Amino acid sequence: MQKSLNNPVAAVIEDFSNTLRFMARCGCKGYDPSERTYRILEDWASAKSGCRSETLEQIRNDLGDCRRCKLWKGRTNIVFGTGNPDAQLVFVGEGPGYDEDRQGEPFVGRAGQLLTKIIEAMKLSRDQIYICNVIKCRPPENRNPQPDEIKACFPFLKRQLDSISPDFICALGSVAANALLEKEVFISRVRGRFFDYKGIKVMPTYHPAYLLRNPVKKKDVWEDVQKIMKIMDP
Ligand code: SF4
Repeated sequence: MQKSLNNPVAAVIEDFSNTLRFMARCGCKGYDPSERTYRILEDWASAKSGCRSETLEQIRNDLGDCRRCKLWKGRTNIVFGTGNPDAQLVFVGEGPGYDEDRQGEPFVGRAGQLLTKIIEAMKLSRDQIYICNVIKCRPPENRNPQPDEIKACFPFLKRQLDSISPDFICALGSVAANALLEKEVFISRVRGRFFDYKGIKVMPTYHPAYLLRNPVKKKDVWEDVQKIMKIMDP
């Protein structure tokens, strides 16, 4: 957490968080000393400061012509993310494919067209939500991102989510679910249930590319997104 010099309330929350960390190091008990506690405090601090910690544009500028992992070598474009910076719902995928790499936009290929249909079936448009990925450069041959690549790129997704501060995240596929739930999961076991990411409700479901290969699973995804729709503000 960064010291909030311009906001006394955020500064007090930050001091409190630092005190809790100190107490945890001293072996004090009687409270939850996990990272979740500090993340909630961090959220409070930014909410109390009454403004975003940073804008998506600032995060994109910071990313720059990124070479923080080896995927930069094969990319045509960095695929940062698109949509509403105040979205109530963010879809997080795995990483760019061929079409996304060419166009610099997430979910524009066949899987993207299917995602658009899902969004429209939810009575939403792509302008109303935000779409991004765990990694922002296309892996060779569309292979799964490797742990070092996720480690390098995930902080930027975290910052995007902090900036947008949505109520819901729909994690598309196991790479997104693993990253956001911070553990190895089988998507078939976690889909359809809400999890917590820094106070945001996370609904894992199948990736649209998987649905193209297994259309019978579309029904499951429809059930999952309906759970979001039921409690989302109209
Ligand atoms: S995948 Fe992410 S960390 Fe790696 S080069 Fe691309 S933008 Fe940078």
